[in-house]
Amino acid sequence: MVTVSFDPDARTLYWYFVELEEGASAEEGECAAALLLDGDGQVIGCELELDESVAREDLALALRHPQVRYQAETFTLTVLLADETPATVQPLAETAILDFDAAGSLLGCELVTAPEFELAERLRRLAPFMVSLDEEEDQGPEPALSASEGTGDRGLGIADDELRTEDREPGTAEAVRPEILQPSAFTLQPFKSGFVAIIGRPNVGKSTLLNALLGQKVAIVSRKPQTTRTAIRGVLNRPGAQVVFVDTPGIHQPRNRLGSFMVEQARRSIPDADVICFMVDISEPPGRLDRRIAAMVRRSRAPKLLVLNKVDRPTPHGPEHLQAYRELGPWDMELAISALHGEGLEALVEEIVRRLPEGPPLYPEGQVTDQSERELAAELVREQVLRHTEEEVPHGVAVEVEEWEQRERALYIRMTIYVEKESQKGILIGAGGAMLKKIGSNARHNIERALGQPVFLDLWVKPRPNWRDDPSSLRWLGYRET
Ligand code: GDP
Ligand code: MG
Repeated sequence: MVTVSFDPDARTLYWYFVELEEGASAEEGECAAALLLDGDGQVIGCELELDESVAREDLALALRHPQVRYQAETFTLTVLLADETPATVQPLAETAILDFDAAGSLLGCELVTAPEFELAERLRRLAPFMVSLDEEEDQGPEPALSASEGTGDRGLGIADDELRTEDREPGTAEAVRPEILQPSAFTLQPFKSGFVAIIGRPNVGKSTLLNALLGQKVAIVSRKPQTTRTAIRGVLNRPGAQVVFVDTPGIHQPRNRLGSFMVEQARRSIPDADVICFMVDISEPPGRLDRRIAAMVRRSRAPKLLVLNKVDRPTPHGPEHLQAYRELGPWDMELAISALHGEGLEALVEEIVRRLPEGPPLYPEGQVTDQSERELAAELVREQVLRHTEEEVPHGVAVEVEEWEQRERALYIRMTIYVEKESQKGILIGAGGAMLKKIGSNARHNIERALGQPVFLDLWVKPRPNWRDDPSSLRWLGYRET
């Protein structure tokens, strides 16, 4: 049976195609989604807009249920739990999170609704399919491994007091839970502000963390490493403090000019940082790159926090990984988070603010990023290109805004996607333009959300060979070596 759980606090529905024990979630994806409603506005199903990256075999677990159908032409997966035609298809503003097992099979999905949708009032017809979220599921969609070890610590088996090695006051064990910080009634403390570098090898979740902390998309996220090209600043205002986060491109072995530029930028953000977050993926042991970056971080005099991300993943060797990451320090503090599920973030912010120097705000309140709208829009297009293409395309892609004009009905944006080879152009455009259309419609959706207005997106693809090694074309595309 397809089962559904409801998290009222997160206004989220979890749809599962498997018993939880059956498959451990290993990978995640995102897609646009909609809820299917009956004539009374009650939820009776959902629809996922997948793409060619999800093969039919990956849907085997979902499709063994009679209520699940797949339309290959449109890549639409429909779950309909009632024997009737839905009266309304309600698209969701938030992208759905897809859960895959290690073999790439879709296990389920997570759909977040807007507050005004009043999800809680619309679940009557789902009642026969509902399973309750117990303690463990509450902390992530997988069964927590630590349950058998009795530590109750999100599958890592790390006790809370081990994670907070310093400054720990009695009774703060629950502080790892994400909560909105209450403004203190007596802000006699001086204002604090400063730069915080989020540093780590590609793919550990730095951009995801930045987006989660700022509550909006300022950096693009991808399963493929090395997606963030230039450092992005994100500004977080809190009562009594302003934190300016810098999301550095992953530090990696330089292979070409653009590569060495990215390493350089990460290296340079370290000396400017007032606090350094060394971010790692606790589900994997440290690799050569983690060691190299840790060595760079160790040389800084700024306070250094070890941020263990992806604690939502089942991690049988969590304690050994923790020990290994610990040995790359010394660290001023260790914190466990799930950037993806928003867990542990308030504790992280609190610990960062505690270590910031005194100083006035560095950016006007209300400004979230120093990226311009145009840069952001181009990044959102690049994100979709990376998401929809296989290994042969990604790193040769750059996106340039050619035209940006407010027209009567919509903002008209024309962009060119530059690729390195003619063959890549063919892949990006796809049969009958299908691929480019998909990239364009997803990107447009995200740009509209980011800018809060209708957008007409006109995308072109052009080959521009070897731009990555040509300094003049690097400058031309906005990668300034400053
Ligand atoms: P970056 O290269 O360090 O900026 O990493 P990204 O933020 O682009 O994330 C890389 C991948 O890891 C993406 O597929 C994210 O969805 C995933 N990811 C990030 N944070 C978490 C997390 O807390 N838990 C899990 N399970 N996945 C995460
Ligand atoms: Mg990134």
